[in-house]
Amino acid sequence: MKSHARVVIIGGGMMGVGLLYHLAAEGWGEDCILVEKGELTSGSTWHAAGQCPSFIADYNMAKIHHYSNTLYPKLEEMTGQATSWHGCGGIRLATRPEELDYFRLVKGIAANVGFRMQIISPEEIKRLNPFLDTTGVIAGAWTLDDGHVDPAGCCNAMAIAARNLGATIVRYNRVTGINQLANGEWQVVTEQGNITCEHVVNAGGCYAARIGAWVGLNIPIINLKHQYLVTEPIQEFVDRDQEIPVMRDPYSNAYYRQEQKSGLIGIYERSNWREAWLESGGQAWTAENELFAPEYDPIMPGLERVMERMPIFADAGIIRVVNGASPRSPDHNPLLGPAPGLRNFWLSCGASIGIAQGAGAGKYLAQLMVHGETEINMVRVDPRRFGAFSGQEYNRAKAHQSYKYMYVLHLPGEERPAGRPARTSPLYNKLKGKGCVHMEAFGWERPKWFSLDGIREEYGFRRNNIFDIVAAECRAVRERVGVRDLSSFAKYDVSGADAEAFLNRLFANRVARRKGGIVLAHALNERGRIEGEFTITRLADDRFYLLSAAVAELRDFDLLRQGKREDEKVIITNVTDDYGVLIVVGPRSRDLLEKISDADLSNDRFPWLTGKEINLAGVPMRALRINYVGELGWELHLPMAQLEQVYDVLWAEGERYGIVDFGSYAVNGLRLEKAYAGWGVELTNEITMIEAGMERFVKFDKDDFVGRQALLRRKTEGIQTRLVYIEVAAGDADVRGGEPLFADEKVIGVTTSGGYGFTVKKSLAFAFVDPQFASPGSTFEIEILAERHRATVLAEPAYDPKNVRLRS
Ligand SMILES: Cc1cc2nc3c(=O)[nH]c(=O)nc-3n(C[C@H](O)[C@H](O)[C@H](O)COP(=O)(O)OP(=O)(O)OC[C@H]3O[C@@H](n4cnc5c(N)ncnc54)[C@H](O)[C@@H]3O)c2cc1C
Repeated sequence: MKSHARVVIIGGGMMGVGLLYHLAAEGWGEDCILVEKGELTSGSTWHAAGQCPSFIADYNMAKIHHYSNTLYPKLEEMTGQATSWHGCGGIRLATRPEELDYFRLVKGIAANVGFRMQIISPEEIKRLNPFLDTTGVIAGAWTLDDGHVDPAGCCNAMAIAARNLGATIVRYNRVTGINQLANGEWQVVTEQGNITCEHVVNAGGCYAARIGAWVGLNIPIINLKHQYLVTEPIQEFVDRDQEIPVMRDPYSNAYYRQEQKSGLIGIYERSNWREAWLESGGQAWTAENELFAPEYDPIMPGLERVMERMPIFADAGIIRVVNGASPRSPDHNPLLGPAPGLRNFWLSCGASIGIAQGAGAGKYLAQLMVHGETEINMVRVDPRRFGAFSGQEYNRAKAHQSYKYMYVLHLPGEERPAGRPARTSPLYNKLKGKGCVHMEAFGWERPKWFSLDGIREEYGFRRNNIFDIVAAECRAVRERVGVRDLSSFAKYDVSGADAEAFLNRLFANRVARRKGGIVLAHALNERGRIEGEFTITRLADDRFYLLSAAVAELRDFDLLRQGKREDEKVIITNVTDDYGVLIVVGPRSRDLLEKISDADLSNDRFPWLTGKEINLAGVPMRALRINYVGELGWELHLPMAQLEQVYDVLWAEGERYGIVDFGSYAVNGLRLEKAYAGWGVELTNEITMIEAGMERFVKFDKDDFVGRQALLRRKTEGIQTRLVYIEVAAGDADVRGGEPLFADEKVIGVTTSGGYGFTVKKSLAFAFVDPQFASPGSTFEIEILAERHRATVLAEPAYDPKNVRLRS
């Protein structure tokens, strides 16, 4: 066995082999070794049912699935290895009107991503599957380009393709440890010897958490059992030439399909879900090709419902029960990308539908490893979306919840309770008592809206019963003063003799030269694409305070620490939990704050885009005159322990100014009116600052900064897409992100986010669009929930384009 490699992948299941093949396809084949403790696929992969759905409601995840569905049908011809690809398509059933809206949303995503999908009537469903009892079914989402595959054949075919490109696979060789060497390289300890390498990938499936523990990682994975049954051959299938599509059914929370001429039925239990290997802490170590004894009781309720739907299954005997283990992350998305805090240590695990995802996940992770970036936005699969808050109990509660709701629609706005609250500010209970409805962001409970009279949100894809309540929160911020607990901000102190030079090298913007100055700064990768967005306040010559998005806390911490050169005298501290944050904003905010502070808050002494350390309500704090809603206002960053005390004083004094609490729903409308793009949604690694139209935040006159050369090239080469700000002549639903844009029936772009601007009374959105449609005044069509609406590119923010309010 080789003792050196560029990459060592641990684990020869669908995720590991999918990555190996794509690293090889990127040209790294000769440099990659995959080490597998048993036979390839001997973990969860071999026993999977092999379905590969393309119906996915997330634009970027849908790209991952779609790519797999384009590769798998070709693999047999590419490699000679049988894969048993069945392109029979799939039908997901709807029994509730909201599900129909869900289908319409995914249909828009399909138009963008490129897979075929139709919303079909019960009669049409019957034509495709004549054995289905469609009682109560109102529609089906028919995806035509997917199907099912033999997982072992498919995985082995990718292994052959990888070997053909020079990659090495070592089977029957357990990895028993991982060490980091003094020069930063990794040493992978295996039964057959050590391998020194630059990159390690943990693709260990159900074993990934144990592998991660060797290098101090807390990988949030729960291994759950899942069962499917195979029936004896069914005469109706024997008599028919055409295979039925794979059925996915929320009524039974099950999938069912043909397996040759037999039936195959898989159930996601609504209760009594079961963890694997509980006696060994939920993790396997010696398991190989392991199946558990059938457990009928938990699946009986679901099975009975399947029989109602497919009466031809009722009399068929069961010839096989597959009860296997599969890993599951708390939010059911795979963990795909860099591990937190470690350089060149990657995760490709936590996939609970890893057959469908293996190739796509491999393709995009390979891009990230080889080129430092991907064509898709991987924020939602980045392993660093979980942190210290996701302990075992949290992971367990979340994994159980996501399993139980596998085919149950999660409506926009619906808050599910598992694992919550995981991370709260001291104001949590007080705000809850005032009617606050919280949402979760990186474990934090963050105010979403306030139900002052006990009203509950009627969840759905369209504007709903709390539209006027959110409008009132917005109006109060625009006309009076609002307060919001935003303690969830990620916060860092950066100090030291080289701090200024370090930040100027890392970010495209230049940090403020004067003490108290604030800038918005973007971290780019070497190709000039956007990796992070920070607000940087200069507190002193050698001291800076940095803020970024809650969900980016670990990712941005890595970005800062890994961006620092060894010889730079810089100290970077994550102070997120030290500071609570109150946003006080609105035209009366100065009046209010002046009542409780001796600090001079006048425009001359405390202008927009400056920060100071002041005392307010007797508490020393960092006050920053910035905000994300476009009004006069301050962010107050104060010791977490004193958050409630200051909040109480603000309310006691603020009532005379008509103070309100406001939440994220209001912020979305307010920021859209100001055309503020969001990191991770608009500002992503898919684009550079040129496509974003944000060159004003790039200081090309600086000596150098990461991504400068690439940006300069991009300026001369031209761009393929452009971020635009649009007004939509919407009906009763606003843009959510992922909706397609059309011109002459051709897809010309995709929305990134949207909502309603209550002050300007306009439906507003951002979108990536073909540059020829990007100039102000350009019009095109946008498809929201399967209806076309006219969209117009706006030249400037719909509200206060000259920033008069911010400067007031
Ligand atoms: C009953 C059932 C049905 C399913 N049906 C579907 C389906 O229809 N569609 C779908 O998409 N998904 C399905 N799944 C889920 C799917 O099986 C998993 O998501 C997928 O197999 C995960 O692949 P993986 O590569 O991450 O893990 P694995 O396939 O488990 O691969 C991990 C590999 O790492 C190896 N390994 C671990 N530790 C070490 C070590 N120390 N040294 C060397 N090697 C090591 C293991 O031996 C193993 O081979 C199903 C799961 C179950 C249980």
